[in-house]
Amino acid sequence: MMVNPPTMVNGFDPASAASLPERTRAQVERRQRLLGPTYRLFYSTPVEAVRAEGVYLYDADGREYLDAYNNVPCVGHCHPRVTAAVAQQMAVLNTNTRYLQDSILAYSEQLLATFPDELGNVTYTCTGSEANDLAMRVARYHTGSDGIIVTANAYHGLTSAVAEFSPSLGSGSPLGPHVRAIDAPDELRLPPGQTVADHMRAQVRAAIADLARHGFGLRAFIADSIFSSDGVYAHPAGLLRPVVDEVHQAGGLYIADEVQPGFGRNGDGWWGFQRHGIVPDIVTVGKPMGNGIPIAAAIFRPELLTEFGANIRYFNTFGGNTVSIAAAQAVLDVIGEEHLIENARTVGAYLRDGLKGLAAGREWIAQVRGAGLFIGMEITAPDGTLTPDGPLAASIVNGLRERGVLISASGPHGNVLKIRPPLPFSARDADRLLEELGRVLDNVRSHLRLRHWQGDPWPSTSLPRSPEPSTSCWSRSATPSPATRPSPSWNA
Ligand code: PMP
Repeated sequence: MMVNPPTMVNGFDPASAASLPERTRAQVERRQRLLGPTYRLFYSTPVEAVRAEGVYLYDADGREYLDAYNNVPCVGHCHPRVTAAVAQQMAVLNTNTRYLQDSILAYSEQLLATFPDELGNVTYTCTGSEANDLAMRVARYHTGSDGIIVTANAYHGLTSAVAEFSPSLGSGSPLGPHVRAIDAPDELRLPPGQTVADHMRAQVRAAIADLARHGFGLRAFIADSIFSSDGVYAHPAGLLRPVVDEVHQAGGLYIADEVQPGFGRNGDGWWGFQRHGIVPDIVTVGKPMGNGIPIAAAIFRPELLTEFGANIRYFNTFGGNTVSIAAAQAVLDVIGEEHLIENARTVGAYLRDGLKGLAAGREWIAQVRGAGLFIGMEITAPDGTLTPDGPLAASIVNGLRERGVLISASGPHGNVLKIRPPLPFSARDADRLLEELGRVLDNVRSHLRLRHWQGDPWPSTSLPRSPEPSTSCWSRSATPSPATRPSPSWNA
């Protein structure tokens, strides 16, 4: 079967390999030959990373890059505490959850203490995908239903089951017949007169009715608490509460996917769902949990796991092994001791202010949004229609990469600059990012003028904006376009 080649935001196009510097070209070709075509590299000139420390990456020529993108090394690349914990544990014991060990219990107590009291059991996996896979198995066991609701460009992972509810994988990776996708909470493009929460609630209600109509019932609503791949939406805080009420009334579970926003990144607390004043039935965590050592987890209301565990065993060979627990323990300790949640809050606010300053007078920057050190900056056409401009965002991302600053982009059109640095990112690092971004934006402006002069049309995906943007993030006012928002397309 022929499908469109899968794309990825900020992905390198192997067809352009010929224009790369000789060493990079040879490496790319070797990689293609050995690893095959499914992996993707970042940037139009891929970065060869050979070493890292704190918020810096270094390439083979010793060039330094300010890392404003990677959330996995959340306490900083190669943090000495994590490195030492892993090395020491590896030399003593590394075994699995079928043996009694104190370290997993001590860590679990401390991890669970960061969650509301209702969430009292933790199961360890190696990846976020496995955590979401398990969460959905438990949800199916509890509800007896199949239907799943996700946001329109969500990513939840790579197993067969999870890919079926990860629309951002694109049309080559079909959604399951039991999956319904709803709009992300985009306050710039709402039906007239509606709030984001109203709009989300109405869509969830419609999705629940449609799932019932097709005999699937409702298993779960799963949402990334900061809607990372949908384009980074953090506000208004509290918007998920009515949505979750709707899900619970229909007998479904709410799964908070904290794989990207978790472990303090949003600056308000440990977990993104807390900003919405809700308690999930299941939470999944991963990426930053071991600062790069593979460890992830699903956290449950105990009653859910009790009924599942009575009949089904769970053993994950590497999940929660002694070394990965040692890494996770060191991460938890460092986040607390180095006040990294507070740092995410203060430096995040400082950086967002700086970005708003850069947006002023640039009519093609539609919004600066986010929470803590998870920030989105939306790039659109300069004609007031809020037409997403992915190519322009890509040129900004690549312009920064050329200047030694790493960010990426997200959203269904790839037009939202995604800034998500390791948590020790300082105000000085923020200044450097802002300075380089300012230069890149100046260059882009001349590029824009040229495009306009050449009569290059903007992509035709204009959507109307809401009359009242929230004050919690900065956005410019714009001329409403006559286009209407498409209703959610089931399985599209
Ligand atoms: N959920 C979200 C929100 C993610 O961003 C990811 C990974 N990008 C996953 C789940 C899957 O995690 P993993 O890659 O560890 O399987």
